[in-house]
Amino acid sequence: MERIHTKIVKVNENNPEKELIEEGAKLIKDGKLVAFPTETVYGLGANGLDEEAVKKIFIAKNRPQDNPLILHISSVEQIKPLVEEIPKEAKLLMDRFWPGPLTLLFKRSSLVPSIITAGLDTVAIRMPDHPIALELISSSGVPIAAPSANTSGKPSPTSAKHVIEDLYGRIHMVIDGGKTGVGLESTVLDLSCKPPMILRPGGISLEDLKEIIPDVKLDLTILKENKNLTPKSPGQKYRHYAPIADMFVFVGELEGIVKVIKEKAGELIKEGKTVGIMATEETKNRYEEGVVISVGSRKDMATIGHNLFNTIRLFDEKKVDVILAEGVEAHHIGTAIMNRLKKASGGKIIKV
Ligand code: AMP
Ligand code: MG
Repeated sequence: MERIHTKIVKVNENNPEKELIEEGAKLIKDGKLVAFPTETVYGLGANGLDEEAVKKIFIAKNRPQDNPLILHISSVEQIKPLVEEIPKEAKLLMDRFWPGPLTLLFKRSSLVPSIITAGLDTVAIRMPDHPIALELISSSGVPIAAPSANTSGKPSPTSAKHVIEDLYGRIHMVIDGGKTGVGLESTVLDLSCKPPMILRPGGISLEDLKEIIPDVKLDLTILKENKNLTPKSPGQKYRHYAPIADMFVFVGELEGIVKVIKEKAGELIKEGKTVGIMATEETKNRYEEGVVISVGSRKDMATIGHNLFNTIRLFDEKKVDVILAEGVEAHHIGTAIMNRLKKASGGKIIKV
């Protein structure tokens, strides 16, 4: 594609400079692409009502056309023209979790371009919990379509540096607002089916959602490979978050995980491979060989979520051939972490 001049602007995340955000908003209104921080990961934004602008997102990211986008709004009033109806449960969830990392699927209205929904009859909408994102959306005056601001298939960006690595020369602006908080994408929830179903686990957990909708379920393809089932969310079909290195994830009892990773690392190093070990604070001193990086403490899963994608990218920077990663317990935010590890490793999850 034709090379684009990428302007990088630093913005104070706690007190965004209005004139800098307005520059970004003007680009959005002109049909251009602006990457910006949200509380989950960086998004690659375009005017969600402008089909030509949205096409540019797919080109810049190299994203498959059948993977729909999330529309980001800054006020609940913005939803009305985009959807057929707002179900009662959606209202309760919006009251409780917005702004925040929860994406809801609604029956779309004819105002939503079909490129956004990849031809589906539902549209995904969320209100991000980040001052820069909210200011950019309200200043643009349109819903902003924004997938994660990475090249398709790569780990999602949790800092402006990651966006620049992937998209420099392909987009018009990067708003650098520091590191993102949650570090994992939003939870995608489908309310149109019975029981309501989580299509992608994320920042709001199954346990959190059960407080409002007790019968909510996880799509069965989220944690296990299942050849007979197709994920309901098109994005979950694809290899995602993948490092350049080959990756394996070890799950089970922690002592067993450490023992097996040590053995496997020893074997690989003997074969002449460079090995990265994604450890945790509790285990990092147990490994004597390989490039060992702690992703955080097992007692603080939110920090593991926050660090995960950056850690995967760090192993690629260190040019390891193989990453051996410790798994975590798949509940609360751990469900989203294990889903990302499953995808990043191409399903190579080994039970010890
Ligand atoms: P991204 O913004 O790149 O993190 O990806 C957005 C995710 O939301 C992808 O997994 C999409 O498949 C999913 N998604 C968006 N719209 C819909 C929809 N209408 N139905 C099902 N999944 C959707
Ligand atoms: Mg993505």
